[in-house]
Amino acid sequence: MDLKPEDFQNLDKLGEGAAGTVRKVMHRPSGLIMAKKSITADPDPAIQRQILRELAFLKTCNSPHIVSFFGVFLDDGDTTIAICMEYCEAGSLEDIYKRARDLGGVIGEPVLERVAESVCKGLVYLHSKHVIHRDIKPSNILVTKKGEVKLCDLGVSGELINSLAQTFTGTKYYMAPERIQGAPYSVQSDIWSLGLTIIEVSQNRPALPPPGQPHLSIFELLDFIVHQPVPTLTSEHISKECKNFVSVCLTKDPRSRPGPQRMLQHPFIRMWENVEIDLSSWIKEVWNWT
Ligand code: ATP
Ligand code: MG
Repeated sequence: MDLKPEDFQNLDKLGEGAAGTVRKVMHRPSGLIMAKKSITADPDPAIQRQILRELAFLKTCNSPHIVSFFGVFLDDGDTTIAICMEYCEAGSLEDIYKRARDLGGVIGEPVLERVAESVCKGLVYLHSKHVIHRDIKPSNILVTKKGEVKLCDLGVSGELINSLAQTFTGTKYYMAPERIQGAPYSVQSDIWSLGLTIIEVSQNRPALPPPGQPHLSIFELLDFIVHQPVPTLTSEHISKECKNFVSVCLTKDPRSRPGPQRMLQHPFIRMWENVEIDLSSWIKEVWNWT
């Protein structure tokens, strides 16, 4: 499908991150509803072309655990890069746990298991295509109205990562210790971020900075991640298998930290293997959909 800026009609604004704005849009020629992420583009046309080329890789990603991609183009008079993807009606896990918090509830273990399993399967798929996600966190894990859990915002464009790094103001809470110490990204770094994500989603607040020290500077926080004990899942209603899954994800030494394929063999995943978990009814309840 060839996407052109003038073919889109803006519907709602879905959210805003450090890199840009995400809108619900309608692609008029096809009638499809999509999510369009607009990122301020580097003014250099050669860099823009390179980013578009690299992002085109997303077209080859085809997995139930990865948000589908419709296309990318220059928008707003060539000042932004627009990435069009599948619209996930239930929003991100961040939206969902904040909603649960507002309702006075917590997200239960069966949902945590489906999240862990879907993320690991998504990472196995990406790994088979030699891609590392690089930004696993609750806002980059989306849920559809059918209750499917999918990864978005894959780190497939080195040039886009470079150009965002120059203006980057976002959080670095999810960064693995080896990354802080300058080692290259590996699929194991994504597993670290998954561990922090599960703690955050189950406790309705980020695992870091640690609760007792909310005002750490960025330097102190990075130092904490490298040198202090890792965060743990403490809730009483959580099984020891789930807690252990998280602590294996948060193994500090990346050489001893398993990749996604091995995490899928963990007793926490096995334990829920033959249990039906109805995420579509759960999501209806969360958002009060009838
Ligand atoms: P950061 O910029 O720090 O990475 P972020 O991931 O929240 O934060 P964006 O990627 O711009 O920033 O996304 C903003 C919000 O838009 C998300 O939190 C989510 O609520 C919403 N969103 C993003 N993509 C989609 C999508 N495909 N379908 C539905 N909602 C989406
Ligand atoms: Mg995002």
